[in-house]
Amino acid sequence: MTRKVAVVAIGGNSLIKDKGHQSVEDQYQAAKETTYHIADMIEAGWDVAIGHGNGPQVGFILRRSEIAAKVEGMHEIPLDVCGADSQGAIGYALQQTLQNELYRRGIKKPCTTIVTQVLVDKEDKAFKNPSKPIGGFMDETEAKRRAKELEWSVVEDAGRGWRRVVASPLPKEIVELDSVRVLVEAGVVVITVGGGGIPVIDSGDGVYVGTAAVIDKDFASSLLAQQLHADLFLISTAVEKVALNYGKPEEKWLDRITLAEAKQYLAEGSHFAKGSMAPKIQAIIWFLENGGKQAIITNPENIGRALKGETGTLIVP
Ligand code: ADP
Ligand code: MG
Repeated sequence: MTRKVAVVAIGGNSLIKDKGHQSVEDQYQAAKETTYHIADMIEAGWDVAIGHGNGPQVGFILRRSEIAAKVEGMHEIPLDVCGADSQGAIGYALQQTLQNELYRRGIKKPCTTIVTQVLVDKEDKAFKNPSKPIGGFMDETEAKRRAKELEWSVVEDAGRGWRRVVASPLPKEIVELDSVRVLVEAGVVVITVGGGGIPVIDSGDGVYVGTAAVIDKDFASSLLAQQLHADLFLISTAVEKVALNYGKPEEKWLDRITLAEAKQYLAEGSHFAKGSMAPKIQAIIWFLENGGKQAIITNPENIGRALKGETGTLIVP
């Protein structure tokens, strides 16, 4: 039997449905709903590697760290370590809910999470122009003091106060790729590149060190799909399909587009919102341009139907 490998990138809504459901228990329930649909895929014969986002979770960890430092003088947690913490906690929820669901169905398949580093280029131009706000708001004095003491980049955020900003460089290499590959080939479900991976740079002669940056999880999942030569790259998010003119009167939902069309619509600029759908389309273009055969964007509850061609947006070379 030939194995079919899918990389599934799951978005923030698979962990936090809305602002009213952010507790650890709420996140567990949301994870359970999503992994139920991933179990359907596995039951249908797919070998799966899962990537996921971590934006809000890293935000919570940072905030706890900041509050504990203010109130109790505790040491703060560097951003790369916050990323590692979030991979562990999110991976735990995903692997346990998926394991339980597979067990319920009588499917013997181990699930595991790999704390994953992703190499970025220290010369990446994103480092010259850090743009991703992270952590809490500060007043100007504190922002400037921290910028000086800790070499942070800080910006004034539209009259709401000052925030730290970090770079969002492109993923170059998945450091634990060989481990991921061996496990996927052995039939293990692997949760990896959480939050886009922990960004590390080569400080010279192959010595990796963590760096304060964030990597886009859709890009890191695309790189994973390319490196595993995945048969399918599936992005699970909050919408059933991708639309042209999203949110406008002339909105048009897409069933199937080609790589050329995806590039054209992306270039037109008006269809896919910058921090949300555009990176997904870019990630898929990158996958298809490097040998990928098919990609799907849909929401968790429609994964099964999308795999049968009944819904979702299919993007092909
Ligand atoms: P995730 O956490 O899965 O990365 P994002 O919020 O970053 O989710 O991106 C998904 C969101 O992108 C959708 O929920 C939708 O609101 C938005 N979006 C922007 N442009 C489009 C589009 N053209 N078609 C469909 N959804 C779009
Ligand atoms: Mg997103």
